Amino acid sequence: MKKIAVFGSISTDFVVETKRIAEKGETIIAESFHRYFGGKGANQALSIARSGEEVVFIGCVGADLYGDEAVENLKKEGIDTSGIVRTKEFPTGSAHITVCQGDNRILIVQGANNSSDFIEKHEIARLLEGCAFAVIQNEVNPKMNELLLNVCEEKNISVLYNPAPVTTVTNELLEKVHFLTPNEHEAKELFPEKTLEEMVLAYPEKLLITLGENGVLYAEGTNVKRIAAYKVAPVDTTGAGDTFNGYFISGIVKGYSIEKAIRFANKAASLSVQKSGAQEGVPFLGEVE
Ligand code: ATP
Repeated sequence: MKKIAVFGSISTDFVVETKRIAEKGETIIAESFHRYFGGKGANQALSIARSGEEVVFIGCVGADLYGDEAVENLKKEGIDTSGIVRTKEFPTGSAHITVCQGDNRILIVQGANNSSDFIEKHEIARLLEGCAFAVIQNEVNPKMNELLLNVCEEKNISVLYNPAPVTTVTNELLEKVHFLTPNEHEAKELFPEKTLEEMVLAYPEKLLITLGENGVLYAEGTNVKRIAAYKVAPVDTTGAGDTFNGYFISGIVKGYSIEKAIRFANKAASLSVQKSGAQEGVPFLGEVE
C-alpha cells in the first residue's frame, strides 16, 4: 500500500463560550470551556487515516504537555508520528476561540508550527520513502513548505496543496503541485481577475474549488463540472474542508478517477458537518461506504 505524507500544522484549540464579550479591563464569568485537537495538518492526516490509508506526518510541536497530547492523539489514529519534531524554542501551536451568540473570535498563536529548519532535507526525504502523495497547507512556515516541495520534486512525489489560510500562490508553485484545493473565498483571493469557471478551465484536473453546500467545481479538459454536495442538515461545518481534502487524496491513492474521488470526499465531508468539532466528526471508511 502506498503511503500519504502530510506536512502541516498541529494545534490545540481552546474554546470559551460566553453570553457577551468582556469590555476592556473587565472580568466576566463565561458559560463553558472545551479543548479540542486541531490544526489543518492534523485534521487532514486524521481524515486520511480514517479513510483507511497509511499516513506519515511531518511537523513540529513544542516540548510541552499539549505537544505530548497532540502527538498521542495522532498515534491513536494509527498515524506514523516519527516525523514530528519537538522544539524547546516555541510552544505547541494553539487557537484561542471565543464563541459569543453564534459568532467566533479567534486568536492564533503559531508557536512551533511557524518554526523553520526544524527538520533536515535528508530526513524529509527518508520520511517520504514509499509515499504516493504529499499534502500541504498554509499553517506552517512557508520556507518549510518550499523545502518539502523541492524534496517531492526530486523524489517525483505528487503534491496536493490546500492553500488555506490563503496567501499568494506563484506560477512556479502552481506548476509544481498536482492538485490545488481552495474554497470559493480562497479561490477568489488567488485569482481575483477570473470567474470561477475561468479559473478551473485555466487549470483543468488540477484546480478543485470547494463550494460548501454547493459541492465542488473543477474542469476535465475544456469541460467544467460541478459535483453536487450531499443534502444534509449541518450542525458544525468546521473542518469540512479538511475532511474533504483527506478523503479526496485517499480516493486518488485508491485509484479513483478525480470525479469519483470528489464524490467520495463530498460524502465524507457531508457526514462530518453533521457532528460538532473538526476532528470528532470525521467519519471512518465504513460509515462513508
Ligand atoms: P472549513 O474551512 O469549514 O473546513 P472549507 O471552507 O475549507 O471548510 P467548504 O467549501 O466549506 O470548505 O466545504 C468543503 C466540502 O465539505 C464541500 O465541498 C462539501 O462537500 C462539504 N460541505 C461543506 N458544507 C456542507 C454542507 N452544509 N452540506 C453538505 N456538505 C457540505
